[in-house]
Amino acid sequence: MSNTNIDNPRQEIEEAIASGDLSKLLRMNGMLHGHFCPFSAMGVKAAVRAVRELGVRSTGMEEVVAIVETNNCFSDGIQFVTGCSFGSNALIYQDYGKTVFTLARRSGDGVRISVRADRVSEERSPQATQLFEKVVIGRGGSEDDKKRLSKLWAELSFRVLELPDEEVFDIKRVAVDVPAYARIFASVRCSVCGENIMEPRARIKNGKPICIPCSVQEYYQLTGDGISVIGGS
Ligand SMILES: [Zn+2]
Ligand SMILES: [Zn+2]
Repeated sequence: MSNTNIDNPRQEIEEAIASGDLSKLLRMNGMLHGHFCPFSAMGVKAAVRAVRELGVRSTGMEEVVAIVETNNCFSDGIQFVTGCSFGSNALIYQDYGKTVFTLARRSGDGVRISVRADRVSEERSPQATQLFEKVVIGRGGSEDDKKRLSKLWAELSFRVLELPDEEVFDIKRVAVDVPAYARIFASVRCSVCGENIMEPRARIKNGKPICIPCSVQEYYQLTGDGISVIGGS
């Protein structure tokens, strides 16, 4: 506890944003994302640009919100650098499959950044593309292939960070309709599985609260394919 910065746990991140230390931020984002890749690098880079442009900081209390239009690697860079995360309700997800994000103040004042994916892909060597197809798309390749891909991918990631923003992004100021602050709800207990449920998510069966999976109703699930409806009887 003694070394914990209670007032601002994101101080190191904020300092790196202020000094424009993109490679430090990408290295730190690796702790969240698990690997280095060009689109997480684009997320870091876009987030730094937007945060600096709006002059905002986040304490994860929804004073600033990020709207992401994809759930690919890009979005982890956005969450890490902006501090607008899935768990803080400051991340809004739109299932459009576009490498685009908008950062907005609660007032609605926002910056929208769209990534020119073609420009980023141009930086890939044919060797990296070939290995990517074999290891990631084909889920194959030897241990050595995987190591070589990690190295090439990391090099590529740090290199694309240095590209001029104007080459890789379309940036515009936008007015955003920011949703109201997340409400705090009471919990109820599911009468079937016994787990707690946020009250508005509970259903009522035989006069008792029941959770969605136990009620076998349709519900939404976010996976790598985007949001889909599952369940139902
Ligand atoms: Zn990635
Ligand atoms: Zn249940």
